Amino acid sequence: MSSIRPLRIGVLEGDDIGHEIVPASVRVASAAADRAGQPVEWTNLPIGRSALESHGHTMPPGTLEALSALDGWILGPIGHRAYPDVPEAINPHPILRKHFDLFANVRPTRSFSDIGCLHDNVDLVIVRENNEGFQPDRNVVAGSGEFRPSHDMSISVRVISREGSRKVARAALQIAQTRRKRLTLVHKNTVFKLGCGMFVDACKEVAAEFPDVEVDEVIVDTMGMRLVRDPQSFDVVVTTNMFGDILTDVAAGLVGGLGMAPGLCIGRGAIAMAQATHGSAPDIAGQGIANPYAMMESTRMLFDWLGHAHRLDTAVRMAEMIKAALESALSSAETRTPDIRGTGTPDAMEAAIVEHINRSL
Ligand code: ATP
Repeated sequence: MSSIRPLRIGVLEGDDIGHEIVPASVRVASAAADRAGQPVEWTNLPIGRSALESHGHTMPPGTLEALSALDGWILGPIGHRAYPDVPEAINPHPILRKHFDLFANVRPTRSFSDIGCLHDNVDLVIVRENNEGFQPDRNVVAGSGEFRPSHDMSISVRVISREGSRKVARAALQIAQTRRKRLTLVHKNTVFKLGCGMFVDACKEVAAEFPDVEVDEVIVDTMGMRLVRDPQSFDVVVTTNMFGDILTDVAAGLVGGLGMAPGLCIGRGAIAMAQATHGSAPDIAGQGIANPYAMMESTRMLFDWLGHAHRLDTAVRMAEMIKAALESALSSAETRTPDIRGTGTPDAMEAAIVEHINRSL
């Protein structure tokens, strides 16, 4: 029997294409786990519309307790906008991010040859604050951060805290230290003097503890333009929730679209949640064309994160194998999906990835 610490990983498929890309990501990770000698204990948990049908709730009671016994989990995309309007049909992912204090959403953007990227040599990471900002379903502990005092007026509250800003800044600075050691703060303190002002002050306070990381600032509207024209000039970017949400989709558009946009939600501890940037893509579900890259890469990021957090060389090795296999599959049109100029199916892509992993030394 292996003496290596097993990793306990939850699998929550989500909705629509989640039922395709999450099982495929688990099969790829399982192949890498076997090859690297890393024991993984998988736990399937119901979530989303199928959980509403089977358990009467989109996040059945006991889900948070079950997750807290795990090292991390894979959350498939949630198609909450199509849920029926009943109290049992909630959007689970803000609750998961908040409950486990997964305050940083790490979203990398990388270009690959021949897949329809608008630029070559893009390699940046946007670290988005995850639990406050403008998102009304998560920026308050009760009620909603959005309300309508009269029929013709709506008010949305944006929450920025010094502590929340410090936490996400620290996470971004730590990531910058492992990369090209550059961090860009994105904000609009010219207008949001208090909110963005506090975010910038907090980021700079924490940055003073990281003298090896060069820090600069870009106003968010300028960032939109620079990201499109000159994405190679960025390494790690840190920003508030809504700005990050928008900029990460812009970044995805630069490198082949949402199928190429992975993400990992992290907090202070070792626990982490793999969650791709894209939604559940109901328009393409069941057609056998969903690009599994973003979900597979998010899963790879989870094992890399857990490998470093628990000092498990085998999990880090798993992540290396998945990375090489994904890159190899992306390099050939036959093993790429149509959204990224491929002629292949997700099954062909997965088969090539698993085969590459099985050949890894
Ligand atoms: P959400 O607001 O929940 O993030 P969304 O409105 O941004 O969702 P998505 O579900 O992400 O919408 O889909 C946006 C577009 O991107 C759709 O046309 C969808 O088909 C496409 N898309 C998303 N994910 C993928 C994927 N993995 N592979 C191919 N196309 C995708």
